[in-house]
Amino acid sequence: MTKDDDIWGALDDALKEEKKETINLKGIPGIKYYLEKGNFNYAVPLMIQILEDPSEYSIPDKIAVTDICKSLVQQGYATYIRLLYPHFYMIHNNTEAYLTRAIPDPVLIFNVSEILTNSKEIMFEEINGLKDTIRQFAMSRKKDYGLNRIPLRDIADSIQINFIIILKLVEEMIQNKEINGHYDSVGDILVLEATEFSCYNCGSEMKKEDKTCANCGTELKTCVICRASIRAPPVQCPKCKVNAHKEHFLEWLKMSADKKTGKGTCPNCQNPLLPSDLKEG
Ligand SMILES: [Zn+2]
Ligand SMILES: [Zn+2]
Ligand SMILES: [Zn+2]
Repeated sequence: MTKDDDIWGALDDALKEEKKETINLKGIPGIKYYLEKGNFNYAVPLMIQILEDPSEYSIPDKIAVTDICKSLVQQGYATYIRLLYPHFYMIHNNTEAYLTRAIPDPVLIFNVSEILTNSKEIMFEEINGLKDTIRQFAMSRKKDYGLNRIPLRDIADSIQINFIIILKLVEEMIQNKEINGHYDSVGDILVLEATEFSCYNCGSEMKKEDKTCANCGTELKTCVICRASIRAPPVQCPKCKVNAHKEHFLEWLKMSADKKTGKGTCPNCQNPLLPSDLKEG
């Protein structure tokens, strides 16, 4: 009898404890648990989850997260929590928008500004890195698909970051002319303004008559076959270094191909070449 009671008692306790442990792995207790084990990979996402929580009841937890981060920064661990900096930046600059229904909390704002004072460089690195990623995403969409309307949801999904952060950063980029475009609030779309031409290397705007990119210094080559400027990465003859549009050079080699060797000839130096001999640049 007593033995059975012991078993059920122990099982009850075990179940209770297991439950406790699962609860403990979330929220502030979870963060502390993982930090004690040095497991930033688990702690940081939990912190982000709390900072992103739109409920006004989450303010005390948000303050607790920033308290923890304040001591981490003081102890030299700022780089371990760098993924949190876009969120700090948002709280610092766009408190109302970010905290949605919540009233801006003075303690939270004070904590965040203290964190940022002690680790400004990391914040700028993270923000500039995100802006670069956004710019590259938009430019590659434009280049690959000829699209100039880029849904911000696509950007957020692709780089796995909060949509509101993307929205705020894009607005800032447009305002600072860090990207040439405007924001269409219907459908949350970044509309890249039509530029005549853009540099294939960095995506910067180029005028029709420009032969060199003012931003990155890339020089446009002239195609030996069609005589036009090459506005995509050119290909080069490995022997005489002459440049051409990739499609034009490949087509040329196909047309001039020797039946036996399969090799075509360079339109400039007449050396025999296979398509795989061409140097991409
Ligand atoms: Zn360029
Ligand atoms: Zn050409
Ligand atoms: Zn050649």
